[in-house]
Formats: sequence, C-alpha cells, structure tokens
Amino acid sequence: MSGSLSGILGLVEISNGESGDMHTEADDTELHSTFCDRLSDWLRPKDEYSFVHKNCACVILKDIKSRGELELAGIKLSRIFDQPHYHLGRALPFHVSAGFTRLEGKNTDIALAMQQAGIALAEARQSTTLFKVYSPQKARNIKEESELLERMQEALERGEFHLYYQPKIHAGYRNLIGAEALIRWHTRGNEILTPDRFIDLAERNDIIGPLTWWVIKSAAFQLSQWPKELSIAVNISPALLLNDDILAVVSDALDIYNVKPSRMHLEVTEKIMMSEQERMLAQLARLKEIGVRISIDDFGTGFSSLAYFRDLPFDEIKIDKSFVQHMLDSEKDYAIVKAVIDLAHNFNLKVVAEGVHTIAIADRLAEMRCDFLQGFVFDQPLPVEEFESRYRI
Ligand code: C2E
Ligand code: CA
Ligand code: CA
Repeated sequence: MSGSLSGILGLVEISNGESGDMHTEADDTELHSTFCDRLSDWLRPKDEYSFVHKNCACVILKDIKSRGELELAGIKLSRIFDQPHYHLGRALPFHVSAGFTRLEGKNTDIALAMQQAGIALAEARQSTTLFKVYSPQKARNIKEESELLERMQEALERGEFHLYYQPKIHAGYRNLIGAEALIRWHTRGNEILTPDRFIDLAERNDIIGPLTWWVIKSAAFQLSQWPKELSIAVNISPALLLNDDILAVVSDALDIYNVKPSRMHLEVTEKIMMSEQERMLAQLARLKEIGVRISIDDFGTGFSSLAYFRDLPFDEIKIDKSFVQHMLDSEKDYAIVKAVIDLAHNFNLKVVAEGVHTIAIADRLAEMRCDFLQGFVFDQPLPVEEFESRYRI
C-alpha cells in the first residue's frame, strides 16, 4: 500500500457480536474467513487492504472524491455485513465497525491517517451507525473533552467542587423550608463553572459516580449543621439510580452525620423510566425504605405519563420552569400548571414550582395551592455562607 495515494483510508473491524462467551476457537477462525470473504465482496478491484490484526483490516478506497461517494461505499459495507453467516447450523453473531479518513495529495502520512481512522473507528464503536468519518473539529472536541475530564478528576481530589444552595420557600407562609444543592466548579483559573459545562460529560463517563457520592455526603454534612426542619434536595443522574452503590452511599452519609433520612430529597427526572422500569422501581422502593424523599424533577418536559402517579413511589413533583415562567401570559401554561397541582394533590404528593420570577406568579401559585416555590425572585443558588447569612441559619 505504498506509492501515490488518493481517496480514503479506513479501518474496518469485526467483533464477536454479543454472545462472546459462547465463542470457540473454531468460531474465531470462521469469523476471520467470513471477514475476508465479505471484505473482498465489498472492495472494488482497484482498492487495497491488509490486516492490522486478525479482526481489523486497513483498507484504501481509491478515487473516492466526495462525501457522497464515501456514503455509498459505507452503505454497501453495511449491506454486505448485514447478512447473517451460518456455521454448523447456527447463525454466527458478529458486529462490524469502521472509521474512515481522507487521503489527500501524494505524500500522505499513512501513520497519521491510521490514527485519524482509529479515532473515527472508536467513535463508530460507541454509536449505532456502522461507520464514522474523521473530522478535525470532532477530534478537537474529543480532545477538549478528554482534557476536561482529566481536570475534573483532579478537581474532585483537590476539592474544587462546591455546593451552592437555592432556597425552597413555603408558598403560603413564604418561609424557608429547605434548599436544592446545585454543584459549581471553582477552577484554579478563578472561573466558576455551572453544571451545564461539565455534568453531561460526567454523565457520559464514570466520574458521575464519585461526583454524586461527594454531593450526597456534602449535603448530609450540611444537613447536620442546619436546623432539623430544613431539607436538602440533591440531583441524581438517571443512570446512577441503578448503580448499586447509591443505597450504601446514601444510608452511610445519613448515618455518619446522624441526619433524619426524610430531610434528604433525591431529585430524579422522568428519564429514569425510559429503560429497565422494573429494576428502577425496585431501586426507588429500596431508597424509600431508607426513608429519603423522592422528587420528580423538570416535570412536564419528558415522558410525563399518568402511570407515574399510579406506579412510582415518589413524594413530590417539581413543575418545570418552562411552564411556570409564562403561566400568567399563557393560558395554556396556566392550565398545565393548575392541572399538575390538582392531580398531584389527589395523589397526596407535594408540588414545587420552579423558575418563579415574579411575586405575582408566586402569589398566584399560592392561590392555586402549590406547596413550595423556587426561583430567582427569591434567590439564585448561593454559596453556603451567603445562604446561611441571608436566611439567618
Ligand atoms: P435543575 O435540577 O432543574 O436545577 C435548577 C436549575 O435552574 C439551576 O441551574 C438553577 O440555577 C436554575 N434556576 C433556579 N431558579 C431559576 C429561575 O427562577 N429561572 C431560571 N431561568 N433558572 C432558575 P444550574 O444550577 O445551572 O443547574 C442546571 C442543571 O444541572 C440542574 O437543573 C441539574 O439538572 C444539573 N445539576 C446541578 N447540580 C447537579 C448535581 O449535583 N448533580 C447532577 N447530577 N446534576 C446537577
Ligand atoms: Ca433539580
Ligand atoms: Ca428542575
């Protein structure tokens, strides 16, 4: 594969499909020979390939000049590898992924192109599409993300994360009943990063576990410092709810700081019910056994289902701010807020309205018998010292 190259360099990889345990050495040999056969079906006579290892081939697709032509080659690849292969009377499971990159000019750096195709291949493995094409912008994003992830790891060890507290106010009496803990990252560069900059990345990586365990422990400590009538709500990412460690972390934190479990609220979004409903319900039931309260966050933005009211063991609904903010100008938003409050009360659930921006909205929510209010009209999330001095704790 030397000389003057133009077109596309690709890495195509075959793996054992899903039932890896059942594979034998004979299966592996069969897999390799299927791989060879299908690669030859896919490639045109002018293309070239060689094996990087048994299950991964480097291919050169000659004279492919446009994205459209490459898409066609990719579609043909999917079609060819989509066909099942039967061996000794059973279908041999396998999975194929590919990463492509452009080769331009005469002096193409093959080592660099292999690296780029490898990045695209890694992306393809994680995705539902069979192949990905390397893009410098995407590679930059991946690099930036991996640097941010590394910095987060260090930040956690160095104590750069802080919990800010936003008051939850009783709608009728307007007194403080508790707070929502919202994470902030005080970077060494003196920036204060809000969660929209890093939570999503944390959720896509294992660091969300340690980060959330830290949040739970810090909130438990804070509860031990505050009057017994105050509660603290922490946000739990949907995937973590199924993590077995959460039960031990929550109950240990409450034990260590000697805090009544009902003072800790776990906020989860409707997304939790999108997968593994049975396990999710069992896990929620175990958390309820510990005695913590469960709130459904951002209610109305996801798959708001009436079945939640019947099936889910939760205590509180937080109506999403997108409905609350405009409820006095939009009859529809008003009707939604009213309906959710009434429905929730029929099921003995408490209701929090989020995103309360004006006293007029707060007053109307109180008339509608909404239980608790949260929003900028009272306070933004505050550092703990500021929160304590403002509310004379
Ligand atoms: P969320 O749970 O819905 O939290 C409320 C967000 O709305 C907060 O943004 C808060 O500052 C903001 N907010 C409060 N009152 C108002 C208001 O009146 N108007 C408007 N426009 N916004 C208001 P923040 O702190 O940037 O947090 C964003 C999201 O990040 C949170 O949304 C939550 O999903 C996530 N998050 C925050 N802390 C944590 C955490 O410790 N763990 C996890 N997993 N997620 C967290
Ligand atoms: Ca929340
Ligand atoms: Ca919310």
